[in-house]
Amino acid sequence: MAKVLCVLYEDPITGFPPKYARDTVPVIEGYADGQSVPSPKGLDFTPGELVGSVSGELGLRKYLEANGHTLVVTSDKEGPDSVFERELADADVVISQPFWPAYMTPERFEKAKNLQIVITAGIGSDHTDLSSAIARNITVAEVTFSNSISVSEHVVMMILGLVRNYLPSHEWVVKGGWNIADCVERSYDLEGMHVGTVAAGRIGLAVLRRLKPFDVHLHYTDRHRLPKEIEEELNLTFHPDAASMVPECDVVTINAPLHPETEHLFNDDMFNRMKRGTYLINTARGKICDRDAVVRALENGQLAGYAGDVWYPQPAPADHPWRTMPHEGMTPHISGTSLSAQARYAAGTREILECFFEGRPIRDEYLIVDGGGLAGTGAHSYSAK
Ligand code: NDP
Repeated sequence: MAKVLCVLYEDPITGFPPKYARDTVPVIEGYADGQSVPSPKGLDFTPGELVGSVSGELGLRKYLEANGHTLVVTSDKEGPDSVFERELADADVVISQPFWPAYMTPERFEKAKNLQIVITAGIGSDHTDLSSAIARNITVAEVTFSNSISVSEHVVMMILGLVRNYLPSHEWVVKGGWNIADCVERSYDLEGMHVGTVAAGRIGLAVLRRLKPFDVHLHYTDRHRLPKEIEEELNLTFHPDAASMVPECDVVTINAPLHPETEHLFNDDMFNRMKRGTYLINTARGKICDRDAVVRALENGQLAGYAGDVWYPQPAPADHPWRTMPHEGMTPHISGTSLSAQARYAAGTREILECFFEGRPIRDEYLIVDGGGLAGTGAHSYSAK
């Protein structure tokens, strides 16, 4: 019987279970590219419940214990005395979410002698050292597409929030002011702007589709070009790389995975290629941007605004400069963990576990590493060190 070690973010400070704002979440029948939604044999939670925090346990306890497995859930994940580090030595399965990642370093792989599978409840397995997983023949899987639309909605919200100067204007209301000129001196329309995405995968393409009705000029770069029909339908301009795309853009959104090719892709050089006053939205991974270069670009006006929900490390320390830099619209890492998204990635995690325990193949689209190499979605979107 297996030991499943699961790292989740903390419960609400107002207590668990929370009081929900709505009674249901819409049922999503399938994804835009034809992929089907997670289909576990059973589900022990009601979609719309908070299952992403410690007490929610991704709705897994009943299923795992009924099958004789042990489930340990904790949010205490950093340092040698953490619950995660203590429980890791004999864990067979590790599950965590990118929002509150259990960083699976080479040292932790070394320690986890029984480990067979590392599951990302969500999308993005960069917190797992893929080279170690490959070397040790450990499977890495994630719930592809589960929260792609959730993130794309957050991206559109952040683009509009920055361009229209929403958050500072809202602050004037809370302060009791009616300072229209203070609000609008940095407020523009998105209409007519050039918007470019770095990567047009599931999230990037969903962002492009959602922006099309705003009458903007759409640009993208990606390692693989989109089908001609999509380029024509959305009137897309393709660029071979981010460096050649950014000078054309007023708004840039990053939707690529973090891997050796994209780490610190957005640095001083990249910012100096941009038009003065470009807006940058990064909901992909914090490390794709050079932390201090972002602050410099906001201070010197190369960037008119920066928004996103991804940081390094996570949780970000209280003195992280992105909390206090000018013209930022940051949130904690929440875009992919709305209650709607949780329902899908918790169900997908259950599906992966059922396959794993029953010796059935895990869907190819959920695989990042398998059989000692990059596999499935991992082989398409990632590169190993
Ligand atoms: P996909 O795998 O569908 O798309 C990723 C795309 O990035 C692929 O088209 C891939 O290209 C492309 N790509 C990879 N490397 C480069 C590069 N160097 N330059 C340009 N394009 C590149 O993933 P998703 O769209 O679902 O997710 C993207 C990322 O978003 C995730 O990896 C994760 O880091 C982040 N994310 C964030 C969330 C949040 O809550 N903030 C939630 C979910 C994801 P190709 O495959 O053509 O080679």
